[in-house]
Amino acid sequence: MNSTIDKKLAELGVSEAAGLAPLFAEVRARFDADAAVATDEFAWKAFRDAWLGRKNGVLARITDNWLKPAAPELKRAVGAALNELRAHVEARIEGRRLAIESGAGSATAARDAVDLSLPGVTRPIGSRHLLRQVFQEIEDIFVSIGFSVVEGPEIETPYYNFEALNIPEHHPVRDDMDTFYLELPNGAATPLLLRTHTSPVQIRTMEKHEPPVRVIVPGKVYRRDNPDATHSFAFHQIEGLAVDTDITFCDFTGTIDYFVKQFFGASVKTRFRPSYFPFTEPSVEFDVSCPFCGGSGTAASGGTCSKCKGAGWIELFGAGMVDPAVYGFVNYDATKVSGFAFGIGIDRLAMLKYGIDDIQVFFQNDVRFLRQFP
Ligand SMILES: [Zn+2]
Repeated sequence: MNSTIDKKLAELGVSEAAGLAPLFAEVRARFDADAAVATDEFAWKAFRDAWLGRKNGVLARITDNWLKPAAPELKRAVGAALNELRAHVEARIEGRRLAIESGAGSATAARDAVDLSLPGVTRPIGSRHLLRQVFQEIEDIFVSIGFSVVEGPEIETPYYNFEALNIPEHHPVRDDMDTFYLELPNGAATPLLLRTHTSPVQIRTMEKHEPPVRVIVPGKVYRRDNPDATHSFAFHQIEGLAVDTDITFCDFTGTIDYFVKQFFGASVKTRFRPSYFPFTEPSVEFDVSCPFCGGSGTAASGGTCSKCKGAGWIELFGAGMVDPAVYGFVNYDATKVSGFAFGIGIDRLAMLKYGIDDIQVFFQNDVRFLRQFP
């Protein structure tokens, strides 16, 4: 790579000061071009030896061929130019070494020497977490029948999390909804807590919008639960709310039935049983006929179906017609509007649909689990 310089060194020699600057500039340009190609350790070593090698390095040859034989009146100028070149060469070579060591060399290599015939670098791209996929699946179903998606804060006041949902301070249901409270400075006006359900967003939505309201509220919720196979201190919900002037119990069960069939398949049946929630009246629990044994309670192998434990039905989630008392908190006229609300546990639904028997795997980020749901 240094044949041109070799030639110059042999032919020209150094005879007068005026020729020095262009000559050294040419050498320097040649060096810079070489430096750009030294993009890996192997190329860098060859590059270093070519320029700094003791016997045949370019700088050694300049010393031997230009500096030593130079006329006495030129020696000083040649020496100064050579020193300047040497400083540049050494700094740049060291700079390349550091760049290659830190990995920047490969980026430079890609820029400076693109080999279009090389196969591309495949970077594995992650996939959405199963819970996110289930969120999306459920949102798509409800959006397709006219619901909008709204979100709200995970840190709430007791008013939105409890009182406005018809759960006064000494209501026993608060025991089941014990949660985490934030440590606030002394004298803080309102305590703050991590929401135990996404229902506070229903209140926030009704405060802002006149009926009709049709929303679903996906999000993370918290309870002071000890972690086990079916409990976690953080889990996920989608709550739904529909309020209008003419919503009946029939609309309610029809909507839920449509959702369940879309999610589990057209062949499943739904049923509801009376239940109790402070913010709905009447309240129900929805069950789905077991999608795994077709509702027979018997597994394909002949034994008892492990999913429904032989019952043929699986408990899904709670729901109900909005308690008129709740409308009082948001200035809706309870004599004119009616509606329904439901709260779907995402983790539980995902476990059911995908045959997962421990809720903790959702949070462990074990790629062997995650890769099963690309
Ligand atoms: Zn079953």
